[in-house]
Amino acid sequence: MNRNIAIDGPAGAGKSTIAKRLAAQLGYVYVDTGAIYRTVGLYALRNGVDKADTAGLTALLTEIQVDLRYGPQGQQMLLNGEDVTDAIRTPEVAAYASSVAAIPAVRAFLLDKQRELARRQNVIMDGRDIGTVVLPDAAVKIFLTASPQVRAKRRWLELTEKGSRESYETVLAEVEARDAADRSRPIAPLRQAEDAILADTSDLNFEESVALLTRIIREKFAELGCEQP
Ligand code: C5P
Repeated sequence: MNRNIAIDGPAGAGKSTIAKRLAAQLGYVYVDTGAIYRTVGLYALRNGVDKADTAGLTALLTEIQVDLRYGPQGQQMLLNGEDVTDAIRTPEVAAYASSVAAIPAVRAFLLDKQRELARRQNVIMDGRDIGTVVLPDAAVKIFLTASPQVRAKRRWLELTEKGSRESYETVLAEVEARDAADRSRPIAPLRQAEDAILADTSDLNFEESVALLTRIIREKFAELGCEQP
């Protein structure tokens, strides 16, 4: 029986850190789909294609080979054979990712890759459209959110720890712009699937958020009559 877990939500909701921990607890493979869009975004950025140039961005797809590799450090992203796992973690790449993600040809290009990963093993997959489009049959669907201010604060702390000097206000503006773009695009917009469970972590710390999601997953597996992993 399919026991895949889909976690969707806006930027900075804590999806990846929480999902990584849950995957370790459950013995699942964690798939970060945002990293896949970021990898395509990085290629566009490096090639100087404008974010608004849909035809130019679509044309790039024939030159791109995106691969995922799983090692001791978790998911690694390969762009035409080059390890770009760290290079994709900048706000500039995030903004590019959001632009390329609104292009239907890009989404079609990446859809099978994501589904294939979930066919091979039990996955906990996070993104924006996992419960609605990529894995509509996932056993558990969670929509993870928090207020924009809380999400921006978490992002800002993370970037500051890495040596970034961006202000909180800039990060908040970026988070809000990306949310608006992700929610309003016509294809696979960010939205809660009808059968997804809402988890708001605005007032929860990391451990409390993990505990909340662990409970949601256990309850859902019990309801479905699945053996607990
Ligand atoms: O999750 P992350 O911030 O890394 O995602 C980067 C961007 O990739 C998002 O802002 C969104 O536009 C896009 N994305 C998407 N669908 C997904 C995952 C990410 O459109 N499943």
